[in-house]
Amino acid sequence: MKYKSIIGLEIHTQLKTKTKAFCNCKVEFGQKPNTNICPVCMGHPGSLPVVNEKMIEYALLLGRATNSKINDKTKFDRKNYFYPDIPKNYQITQYDYPICYDGNIKILLEDNNMKDIGITRIHMEEDTGKVFHDKDDNNSLIDYNRAGVPLLEIVTEPDLRTPSEAYKFLNELKSILRYLDISDANMEKGELRVDVNVSVMKKEDEEFGTKVELKNMNSFKAVKKALEYEIDRQIELIKKGKKEKIKQETRMWLEDKEKTKIMRTKEEAADYRYFPEPDIPAFHINNDIIEKIENIDFELPLQKRQRFSKEYNLSDYDSSILTSEIDLAHYFEKVLEKFDDGKAAANWIINELLNLMNEDGKEIKEIDVTPQKLASILKLIDQDKISGKIGKKLLKEVYNSGKKPEDIVDEKGWSQVSDSDELENIIKEVLEENNDAVERYKNGEDKLFGFFMGQIMKKTKGKANPKKTNQLLRKLLKNQ
Ligand SMILES: [Zn+2]
Repeated sequence: MKYKSIIGLEIHTQLKTKTKAFCNCKVEFGQKPNTNICPVCMGHPGSLPVVNEKMIEYALLLGRATNSKINDKTKFDRKNYFYPDIPKNYQITQYDYPICYDGNIKILLEDNNMKDIGITRIHMEEDTGKVFHDKDDNNSLIDYNRAGVPLLEIVTEPDLRTPSEAYKFLNELKSILRYLDISDANMEKGELRVDVNVSVMKKEDEEFGTKVELKNMNSFKAVKKALEYEIDRQIELIKKGKKEKIKQETRMWLEDKEKTKIMRTKEEAADYRYFPEPDIPAFHINNDIIEKIENIDFELPLQKRQRFSKEYNLSDYDSSILTSEIDLAHYFEKVLEKFDDGKAAANWIINELLNLMNEDGKEIKEIDVTPQKLASILKLIDQDKISGKIGKKLLKEVYNSGKKPEDIVDEKGWSQVSDSDELENIIKEVLEENNDAVERYKNGEDKLFGFFMGQIMKKTKGKANPKKTNQLLRKLLKNQ
């Protein structure tokens, strides 16, 4: 391809603190509108903001996880603009001294190479309220419960080159936020929002093309689709010699039409009249808090992935699936406390359990197959008490009923016949009933072996232990 695209992301993610960024209002969603508010987050005269220390800790924790530098001295600023969702007419944010800067996140590319994506900055700010234009025929409605909820804004360097790299980066960041337990980062629920900057340039060009900002995507998949569309649009314009038609502007992704539409020409930072927040003096991050963050023990998705591959001899693919969600990674390790074949456990989780969960859209936390129960099923198979085929049926039963695997096996009579005497009797019966076939087998029709196996399975309703049956059948045929 003659063109390359340059992509940078700006991500806002809601922090899981108990209270808001600068007041004591609770952070909880699904409440009655305008109940979690107070004079501070409503900007009443005479009220003063107080910084929530948890917000600072969470920002530093993400800073540590992304190898960022910490601004020893930091401050808050006011970003001024008028819109009804911001009751103070300004947002408290950080302008020139973000708490963290110059970090990176590694993503795994298709060719199995790692790529470093630079993090320009991470800064703290407060969220806005929510405006509803479609809930009332004559009025727009506002809910301020979200106003003042702490956010982290994460800005990447323009290091991403393709929509699929952007998609991978977002998934990695989401995993990290969830591993650190500082944000649920669910884009579909609005807990994480992504703005994209994208430009296109000819490969031989030295200069970047004009940057366009994309907004209004509500899933990582939508981000990928919007980028694909926008890159094509810009390349087409360049090909037609209409490069000047690519303007520095903000475009909106229209999900139903699968295209972008101009929203507004891009505003400049100066338009926001940033100035230092007079109610919160600039401050130093003290050593106690830095030490506290450094002493928190955590394993990031990438480290866990590498450890799983090495420790349990898993493929990179399997490890990356098992570590994509921290709850799933915990589940896997819990299974291994009771059953020590990591490879088998990984196979069963990825190929069987996740399929069942996908079918009814459940998450690992919501299912009745506890790690102990899955370990029991794997043990039953491992000890030849049930066949692998029955194991799949059993898993489905446990999944649907939540009952103990052993109880279901008893109830349904699914135990495998492994007892040699019992098997021998059954095989003898089958051979007696099929005298002709035995004669033909002895005269060289080897393929009849499969026929005998089939008859034995039929007689035992599939419960004969295949390995043992095979051995015994061979022995008994020889003695015929
Ligand atoms: Zn408040």
